[in-house]
Amino acid sequence: MYAKPVGDESGLEPPIKAEDPKRVLREAGKVKTRGQNAPSWNTGISVTMQPICTFNVTPSLPPRLEALRILAYNLRWDWDSDTNDLFRRLDPDLWQSSRYNPVLMLGTIRQSRLQEVAEDEGFLAQMDRAVQRLQDYQQKRTWYRKHRSEGKAGECYAYFSMEFGLTSCMPVYSGGLGVLAGDHLKSASDLGLPLVAVGLLYQEGYFAQYLNADGWQQERYPINDFYNMPLHLERTADGSELRISVDYPGRTVYARVWRVQIGRVPLYLLDTNIEPNNQYDQDICDRLYGGDIDVRIHQEIMLGIGGVRMLKALGLAPTVYHMNEGHSAFLVLERIKNLMDEAGISYAEALQVAQASQMFTTHTPVPAGIDLFPPDKVLYYLGHYGHRFGLANDEFLALGREDTGDLSAPFSMAVLAIKLATSVNGVSELHAEVSRKMFCGLWNGLPLSEVPIHAITNGVHARSCVAKSTQELYDRYLGPNWSQAGSHDPLWERVNSIPDEELWRNHELCRSQLVVYVRDKLQQGLRERGAAAHEFLEAQEVLDPFVLTIGFARRFATYKRATLFLRDVERIRRIIKGQGEGRRVQFVIAGKAHPRDIPGKELIRKIIHFTHDEELSRSIVFVPNYDIHLARAMVAGCDVWLNNPRRPREASGTSGMKAAMNGLPNLSVLDGWWAEADYIRTGWPIGSGEDYDDPDYQDDVEANALYELLEQEVVPLFYDRDNDELPRGWVAKMKDAIRLNTPQFNTARMVKEYAERCYFAASDNSMTLAAQSYTPAKALATWQAHLIEHWYAMKIESVTVSEPSDLTVNQVLQVQAQIDLGALTPDDVQVQLYQGKVEIDGEMHSGRATPMTYQGQDQQGRCQYKIDVSYEASGLQGLSLRILPEHKYLNSPYDLRLVMWAEPDTVAINVNNQGQDPKPSSVAESMAVAP
Ligand SMILES: *Cc1c(COP(=O)(O)O)cnc(C)c1O
Repeated sequence: MYAKPVGDESGLEPPIKAEDPKRVLREAGKVKTRGQNAPSWNTGISVTMQPICTFNVTPSLPPRLEALRILAYNLRWDWDSDTNDLFRRLDPDLWQSSRYNPVLMLGTIRQSRLQEVAEDEGFLAQMDRAVQRLQDYQQKRTWYRKHRSEGKAGECYAYFSMEFGLTSCMPVYSGGLGVLAGDHLKSASDLGLPLVAVGLLYQEGYFAQYLNADGWQQERYPINDFYNMPLHLERTADGSELRISVDYPGRTVYARVWRVQIGRVPLYLLDTNIEPNNQYDQDICDRLYGGDIDVRIHQEIMLGIGGVRMLKALGLAPTVYHMNEGHSAFLVLERIKNLMDEAGISYAEALQVAQASQMFTTHTPVPAGIDLFPPDKVLYYLGHYGHRFGLANDEFLALGREDTGDLSAPFSMAVLAIKLATSVNGVSELHAEVSRKMFCGLWNGLPLSEVPIHAITNGVHARSCVAKSTQELYDRYLGPNWSQAGSHDPLWERVNSIPDEELWRNHELCRSQLVVYVRDKLQQGLRERGAAAHEFLEAQEVLDPFVLTIGFARRFATYKRATLFLRDVERIRRIIKGQGEGRRVQFVIAGKAHPRDIPGKELIRKIIHFTHDEELSRSIVFVPNYDIHLARAMVAGCDVWLNNPRRPREASGTSGMKAAMNGLPNLSVLDGWWAEADYIRTGWPIGSGEDYDDPDYQDDVEANALYELLEQEVVPLFYDRDNDELPRGWVAKMKDAIRLNTPQFNTARMVKEYAERCYFAASDNSMTLAAQSYTPAKALATWQAHLIEHWYAMKIESVTVSEPSDLTVNQVLQVQAQIDLGALTPDDVQVQLYQGKVEIDGEMHSGRATPMTYQGQDQQGRCQYKIDVSYEASGLQGLSLRILPEHKYLNSPYDLRLVMWAEPDTVAINVNNQGQDPKPSSVAESMAVAP
């Protein structure tokens, strides 16, 4: 294999932008640079050249090439491989050195090269085709139009996220959350959803990683040059910058608005880096997850409140607000205030409208991962909302507290989002289960399984993560619809018709490309720290394109246990060296630790030290500066994707999905998405979904399981070749991975689920509540106040069970209840019979609720309810009664978080009782059911 000649990618720091005074200052060393090893271009002594006047100079293209500008400014080029190719063809070196940024490339390309391609018939034909495809893409009849009565007039879904990972030249993401958000937008565009996205545009984004000679992570913050990125500055009708303002204590902060066009979907990004904001306020949009808690609250105020103001300034009136993680949850405050101000309705009424249109996706499986703010800070920055709403401080803070009586509790963004959302979801089945446990306190009295946090499992955008040659292969054998087709589409059967030989040769090609790419990247890293000549030579020798390659790349958070495979050094050494049979194994590893995560950095250093071992240095490499581009090369070119988080800490995980779509089997702990995949046919499970109390013991057990799988399953299957040198068994697994995982763990499926399960209903409900000058919202608010006032006065007085306490399976018994509803009426409530198995602790944990039928009132005014029930299983079974609120405008009976259960001790039970055990506490009645 060869390595490409040295070409300095990092040398392409965009030229100093005279328009950005802050940048000029920074270049001159007047602005702090952080990190003890700041590279020289940030610390040089130089003169300050303040411009007296600035211009935005745009590239000058020959008229015949104007279309390139249109293509460059629509991020569709990121997942349309022909357009991508077109830019590469224009100037391959510049394409790479610009970090795959067509706008920067068009701005810096030699004029002579432009003249050349303007005469090149082949190039022009490819360009014209690309333009045609973009137009077709934007005009085609979409899934949304077909599934939403040709598009519902006036609806719009706003998607808020702290980070978006779209493409490598826009480093405004840190990891999985951002890439997921980016993929959400791409699929929303593919499906034609009327979605707009809201985020912050960071001047420095997330850091670039490099390592010093000892393997210690260093951070560099390249400055994003907005004018040379695929960004449009939004302007008002008179041509001036569109600006919004947000009030902070004692001052107003301004932001301008940039738009990224992602196919059909616009992403609007706020930018505070402008005059007359003071330095601190300009830095609100400085770094993603960079500052202290005050910077963080400033950022989240800008995202949530600034975001709502921006949408309004753009003339948009969304009918759904989707909070991707809790960072944007302050948006609910601004929305309620707007509704009060504009519609002249009360806080309670505005709350109904706002809540009906808001939804929340949580991504955090541990309490420590939740955004919390001290109450005094929340009052200091946002207390004016409480005043406007007419709430006392503690009532206002209660919006972000689970236990509203705990006046010292911090303010939780997740709790705020949940309390004001009409739908809440986790990002995998397992994560939703964990989230129900984490947040069940918000629905006191509901059985855990009923806590309304459902799962919409994450996915990835197929056309963004599958290698170009592999996409072409799928297009050829499956037809072009594979990237969005559902699991039941018959096209998936055609995966088996791809010749083994072709799939395998293509994969081997991807692996060789990865090897070249890694050698390149390593040399680049060495250059950045001025390494010695022999190190460059060594970097040219790493990896073998014919050896089983295991990929591991993700954030270096400690729970992901990047060094688990090093637990038994001698054993992994034997595995890498081929167990004496020449069946060698190599590792490609990448990932960033958060700058303040010292233990995370230790893990990187540990891996680097391990690679210093003479015998292993070619077989295990750590590739610096993990980003979208490196991720794509790795998920295409490795053979196996390894993941070993400490279960259940990985809410979903998405890199393994990208790998599967490229035909890689996963080798992973049963956490997140992998626990719901076909992990036998499409890879290997590490362990069987156990939870452990002792982390050290867990590491031992799981490292051992990992070694055993490698030794006994993975390596033998990979090296088992037939006469054609093909690993038939391995290829079969690859095909299963493609066939089963591509349709399922796909943002096309995911975004459809969000649309069908959340967006459509929330949009309809919020429009209903706002109709006729908010009459329904007012009715709902009035009803709710009345309901809450009289809720606790209701009394379930007696329950009559028709049969003795010994039953047989399927024997019908009649249950009647007498309930004193007080000031409420049967229309206000739903009375349910709840039945299920009585568990060892005397509770019914997974019972079933069925509505009882209202029979009228007796002479004392008590309401009579009736139902016939039977049990399908034998054993100790219980029943109870409960009451939930009901109203035609209520989205779900759980919205008010009110549920009244029959109290065993206070309800008179009339039953043919024959020497039964004392009744279990939460069960109004229990009985032994015989088979
Ligand atoms: C996909 C992706 C991630 C997320 O990977 P996980 O498996 O969820 O950890 C992080 N960073 C980048 C650059 C990615 O492309």
